[in-house]
Amino acid sequence: MTATTPDVTPEAAFSGIGTIANPATGAEAGQVHWTDPADVPTIAAGLRSAQREWEQRGAKGRAKALARFAVWLSEHRDEIEDLLIKETGKSAADAAQEVPLLIMILSYVIKTMDKALAPERRPAPLPILAIKKITVHYRPRPVVGIIAPWNYPVANALMDAIGALAAGCAVLLKPSERTPLTAELLRRGWLDSGAPDVLALAQGAREVAGAVIDNADYIQFTGSSATGAKVAERAARRLTPVSLELGGKDPMIVCEDADVELAAHAAVWGAMFNAGQTCVSVERVYVLEPVYDQFVAAVVRDVQALHVGAGDGNHFGALIDEQQLAITERHVREAVAAGARALTGGQRVDGPGSFYQPTVLVDVDHSMACMTEETFGPTLPIMKVATVDEAIRLANDSPYGLSASVFSADVKRAKDIAVQLDCGAVNINDVISNLMCTTAPMGGWKTSGIGARFGGADGMRKFCRQETVVEPRTNVGAGGNYYHNSLKALARMNRVMTRTALARPRRTAK
Ligand code: NAD
Repeated sequence: MTATTPDVTPEAAFSGIGTIANPATGAEAGQVHWTDPADVPTIAAGLRSAQREWEQRGAKGRAKALARFAVWLSEHRDEIEDLLIKETGKSAADAAQEVPLLIMILSYVIKTMDKALAPERRPAPLPILAIKKITVHYRPRPVVGIIAPWNYPVANALMDAIGALAAGCAVLLKPSERTPLTAELLRRGWLDSGAPDVLALAQGAREVAGAVIDNADYIQFTGSSATGAKVAERAARRLTPVSLELGGKDPMIVCEDADVELAAHAAVWGAMFNAGQTCVSVERVYVLEPVYDQFVAAVVRDVQALHVGAGDGNHFGALIDEQQLAITERHVREAVAAGARALTGGQRVDGPGSFYQPTVLVDVDHSMACMTEETFGPTLPIMKVATVDEAIRLANDSPYGLSASVFSADVKRAKDIAVQLDCGAVNINDVISNLMCTTAPMGGWKTSGIGARFGGADGMRKFCRQETVVEPRTNVGAGGNYYHNSLKALARMNRVMTRTALARPRRTAK
């Protein structure tokens, strides 16, 4: 597990006014007013009181507000992306992915939320219970705390918030202390679009995050596995439920019958997109021997054509800071010292900014951190394997289990491989695409997470408590088990219940 939180930065640094540096240039990207952890209970209390009216609007009323916010996002896309590039040093191409993803999620949620959140009728489990009408109501958890990472400051800040807001919750968002600026702009947009004050920010690091956990009714956390464990521990003090979307070391398997060109293009994009700072990036590749040389050559060719730099005209940009760069440098340095070869790249980019060359590593194995720890940098370690079984074994040889990809001309064969992989999602002949499939859950196995984001109606219902209401259809037969009945009548009732309950097991057992 990797702990990417900058433990080196003392909490005292997150008080008063903070200056955020552009990782590409070192210049000031903007200023933020850090939240005093002691103020978090008051912020949460404000949300709690605003939430009531928000809940009472009903799903249709809330959908209107979410729709207006979607329009605001599309109208302010350039402003958001400019700030995003300044705050993260991303390329324009990478920055351009975030707002459309949010709009796509909003559009799906707006269309489905009324039905997803409507009370649900449940059938009587036994004929004798047909006298009851059973309904499950989805009631919002008043304040949802969202603790976000820095790698997608727009998408990761809001993609879960959309489901929570749709559900009728208020949201207390704590962005990463490395990227607090875009969240300020998004909150302003929420209010400017006419929405009520049910989205608030708490800006800071660990202490503020702790205060958010202590004051929320549900925690949606996205970040490293090490921090996720701390979040779960703290939330357990008040038995606050958590959903944890954590780190990964996603494998790709390339079979000997794969379209090697397609697999190489996918591996390079999947590994280098956003400078490799994507939870579901391709972090390691296992290639069957017959196509290994061809695959490696195609990957190196593609990687050497990439342009690294912030803003326009580049494929990917800076790493978020020197600490993230140091992890990437260590993984490459240690691998090379242990016998791996960097066929291209292998160094930080000279000059200002925390840029690292896109790097292809071969002759790697599982004794090396580059194959076992989350790198979160623009590296692609590739390992030759003799059989598919070996590829599956190695893919599963990880404490992580976020997602994976399999390339084969035979989709049925690829599916057989997919269901042997221990992870939350597998893309066949593609990478990362499950992230767009918001009707399905996106969640990690093992240390990659607890719970899931998205998943259709589940992506909204997870922010609710379920309340079962049982009403009488008729008073006939009601109270047949109360003490005021004769003991004989109670015994008869028991016999009837057992007989009707046993009808199916008896038939099935025959
Ligand atoms: P991180 O764990 O260092 O920080 C995430 C958030 O947790 C930040 O807001 C941080 O301030 C806060 N935090 C730090 N210490 C805390 C504590 N003790 N208690 C509560 N909160 C605390 O992660 P990061 O470096 O910001 O993000 C990168 C990680 O996020 C990678 O591991 C990546 O794989 C993961 N990630 C996962 C997903 C997913 O969907 N599974 C998506 C994006 C990123």
